[in-house]
Amino acid sequence: MAARKCCALSSLEVVLTVLFVAMTAVSVTLISMTAMRATNTCPTPPPSPTPPPGPEPSFLIGVGRADCTGPPAELPLMGYANPQQTAAGIHTRLFSRAFIVDDGRRRVVFVSVDVGMISQRLRLEVLKALQAKYGDRYRQDNVLLSGTHTHSGPAGYFQYTLFMITSKGYLKSSIQPLVKGIVKSIERAHDSVRPGRIFKNRGRVDASSVNRSPHSYRNNPRDEQNRYDDNVDKDMVLLKFTDMDGDGIGMLSWFAVHAVSMKMNNRLVSADNMGLAAYLMEEHKNPAALPGQAAFVAAFSSSNLGDVSPNVRGPHCVNSGLACDYLNSSCPDGGTKACQAFGPGGDMFDSTRIIAHNIFTKARELYTNAAEEVTGSVHSAHQWVNMTDVTVDINDTHAVSTCKPALGHSFAAGTTDGGGDLNFTQGAVEGDPFWDGIRDALLGEPSNQTQECHRPKPILFSTGEMKFPLPWHPEIIDVQIVTVGSVAVVAVPGEITTMAGRRLREAVQQELRSGSSGAFVYADVVIAGLSNVYTHYITTYEEYQVQRYEGASTIYGPHTLSAYVLKFGQLAHAIAQDQVGSLPTGPPPPFFQKNLFNLLPAAAIDGKPDNSSFGDVLQQVLPVYRQGDVVSVTFVAGNPRHSGDVRDQSFVAVEMHNNASDSWTLVHTDASWETRFHWLKGSAQQSNATVEWHIPPNAAAASYRIKHFGHYKSMKGLRPVITPYHGTSDVFRVVHTFYSE
Ligand code: ZN
Repeated sequence: MAARKCCALSSLEVVLTVLFVAMTAVSVTLISMTAMRATNTCPTPPPSPTPPPGPEPSFLIGVGRADCTGPPAELPLMGYANPQQTAAGIHTRLFSRAFIVDDGRRRVVFVSVDVGMISQRLRLEVLKALQAKYGDRYRQDNVLLSGTHTHSGPAGYFQYTLFMITSKGYLKSSIQPLVKGIVKSIERAHDSVRPGRIFKNRGRVDASSVNRSPHSYRNNPRDEQNRYDDNVDKDMVLLKFTDMDGDGIGMLSWFAVHAVSMKMNNRLVSADNMGLAAYLMEEHKNPAALPGQAAFVAAFSSSNLGDVSPNVRGPHCVNSGLACDYLNSSCPDGGTKACQAFGPGGDMFDSTRIIAHNIFTKARELYTNAAEEVTGSVHSAHQWVNMTDVTVDINDTHAVSTCKPALGHSFAAGTTDGGGDLNFTQGAVEGDPFWDGIRDALLGEPSNQTQECHRPKPILFSTGEMKFPLPWHPEIIDVQIVTVGSVAVVAVPGEITTMAGRRLREAVQQELRSGSSGAFVYADVVIAGLSNVYTHYITTYEEYQVQRYEGASTIYGPHTLSAYVLKFGQLAHAIAQDQVGSLPTGPPPPFFQKNLFNLLPAAAIDGKPDNSSFGDVLQQVLPVYRQGDVVSVTFVAGNPRHSGDVRDQSFVAVEMHNNASDSWTLVHTDASWETRFHWLKGSAQQSNATVEWHIPPNAAAASYRIKHFGHYKSMKGLRPVITPYHGTSDVFRVVHTFYSE
């Protein structure tokens, strides 16, 4: 959707045009200097002890994984807010991975979901389903949901207007598989609970992350920057879960990088780099299992990734190859859109693979060597907070406050991981009369109070003052901390930048360490990003002043981080003093029943070429391939949306022939990295499915065939009928490269 010369745009067009550009491709020094000094004087953790002899059960542990893939066709993908980026097939499936830890008195649940972010609506629906099944066992305070931030999963699971507009509405077909998949993963974890032990480890992941807003980062105090070697956090923190025999049952890790190795022109549902890392670890532990079916559960969770890109070659002007403007990330030839970050691979699939391998390789090493046992009890603390109205005293005479939500102009510029289409650039601290005029005419002018509160942000959308047909942004948010032994997991409801995350971790760590019980003297604090409710970005006060994408998307204003430091600090204090019960619950968030809208038309009936049937092969395989080749076969297909709930199904089967038994063995599904299921919509309601198999180097020399499964919709009189179909390719052979005919 390009910017148009004509000003006579319809109101919807303008709203959509502006809104679609750049949704997510993305405190002040209130953090007291005493806090910083305190860190340096705090006790250093002891060297990793060897596990004590003789297994004493530390915890009860359960792990579970479930498919949460939604309809892989026509739904927008959540992340880049690119209206052309609708789903058209599957590269890898999306999974929810749940971990339950119980100390005999209390229980906590951590869930990492292959999803752009957890929305408030998604969390509320999950909690309702858990309540129906388990009563008060799993609640808002002891269940933590975190998204991996893949930008290649179906959108439409939000109840606030801004997100509904960019997602074609609130889509039941999108949210239901997520709710069911998340709940199923928790059920499986619940059913697998057994005595076990936990070990932790930490290590540096290189060559996998860069700061995409270094100009903002450099606005942080020099002293503070000097405390760190890098402008992103490169440490991975990992928990290893074993049963009492020492057999591994799962692992959970946190690492800060955007899951945007797959770019905004990708149309395939994909779990991106973090999801592939999970596949690889699970495959490493259970080599015979198909993706998503291993007993071992490995989760790679997001962290303080707000300004962290996996596109490690950094941004360049695509037309000239020269560096982009440093502040604005724009190019003389092509503007914001032309400034794009790539790498490290030759294409986005290759980049995804490389980043995933780097993360997986480090996790495998940390897992293997994890020796420091986590012992003690578990805690969880949670509050709902009205984030539009938090006041923080910064000294005896001065207090600051958060604001009603608003997005700045640079929000519409997007990032170097996926830029906006219009003439917005990052780093804008002045409005644009053209866009401001349109905004005022259609959506209303931001109030003086909101403008003042967000300064120096030039407000593009005063979302906190926009209520039609439902509020455009949340006011009530979740703050939550769960602890397992001395490990504290801070559930941040958005994308927190590197430095903001460091400040928050330190504040929480200081509160925990000051606890009277002494249980947290060696507290290890990790941030779980994109948790519980989505509120865009959280920068430091200094980064906010620069108003790049992340600052423009810090929706509660310049003191957002201060408010989180205060609120999470209170939770940490309550945990450390064992006074969680005295925390006020806070105002519960709304659960909207009316005025949710759906702009996605129902999928039409399916057409097919004359004299053909659904599942017929349109383009056949070749007779012989070598490892490294790509097998491709195209079928007459139905719309994948007609397959309904696609969880635990597959549109694809790659089967290998066993000569001895004259039978076929399933070797890949549509969840496999090696397969790509492309759905192509044609004219006259006809569509094709092309299945690719990228033959891996370890594929056995054998005969194979590829199957495609689907459903088509037809009319029987006035009644729509859904009918399953499948198709099968010719048999082909894979031969080793040294083979000659
Ligand atoms: Zn993001």
